[in-house]
Amino acid sequence: MGRIISISNQKGGVGKTTTAINLSACLAEKKKKVLLIDMDPQCNATSGLGILKKDVKKTTYMLMLGDCSVKSAISKTSYKNLDIIPSENSLSGVEIELINTKNVQYILKQSIQPIVDSYDYIIIDCPPSLNLLTVNAMTASDSIIVPIQCEYYALEGLTMLMKIIDMVQDKLNPDIVIEGILFTMYDGRTNLSSDVVDNVKSNLNVNIYNTLIPRNIKIAEAPSYGQPINVYDPKSKGSLAYKQFAKEVINYREK
Ligand code: ATP
Ligand code: MG
Repeated sequence: MGRIISISNQKGGVGKTTTAINLSACLAEKKKKVLLIDMDPQCNATSGLGILKKDVKKTTYMLMLGDCSVKSAISKTSYKNLDIIPSENSLSGVEIELINTKNVQYILKQSIQPIVDSYDYIIIDCPPSLNLLTVNAMTASDSIIVPIQCEYYALEGLTMLMKIIDMVQDKLNPDIVIEGILFTMYDGRTNLSSDVVDNVKSNLNVNIYNTLIPRNIKIAEAPSYGQPINVYDPKSKGSLAYKQFAKEVINYREK
């Protein structure tokens, strides 16, 4: 059965999409069958994998509204073992469109059910908010990976995120766990980055991945070429880090 992992943190710009794309691609490179679900109306995971708006036919928006089947919503990417359900900007209005729908927190979970067994991993890229889209992602997931940017305000908002995860666990999905915290944009030359890591370690009682994702220009460049980092520059520090991280994620599953 496929393992469903949400990449979530309501703080913007912490590396969620970068992690969703590159973790998915590195798992696929290791011969795992992967589906990336873009749950963000910004569509960054979709464009970051080189999928153009004009070529997108079915999306997470249509899936959420029940306007298409999950099988028809899946697109192939240019990368072996890696499929995607792309997003579109209209997804931002879905919360209002679904206002009178029953069991609205379970729509994603129910709609992906038919394909869960066709993948080893389903990775969900969440938007930077704790809204219905994020709740749907968490309800559908086995676990959550929380990327944290190594900056001064890193801990801000984490308490709220933990509260929401507790609520989801309590009311919607008792089995969900925080798989771990991933530090992103780590800069080994500054004390700040290592202070942030130490601070989070001493304040939160959760698994923290050994891999630190460095701040690396190649990681930032790759999406504009529609490529994951392991394809764009396989030997870059960023690529090696995401490959290492993918190994940790695989080992977690097999622990
Ligand atoms: P949002 O909350 O808007 O969805 P996000 O959490 O998905 O944002 P990303 O889009 O992944 O964050 O990253 C924010 C910016 O930081 C992007 O421009 C991305 O290219 C850049 N970035 C992410 N990780 C790294 C890194 N390790 N090194 C350098 N730049 C990075
Ligand atoms: Mg994003």
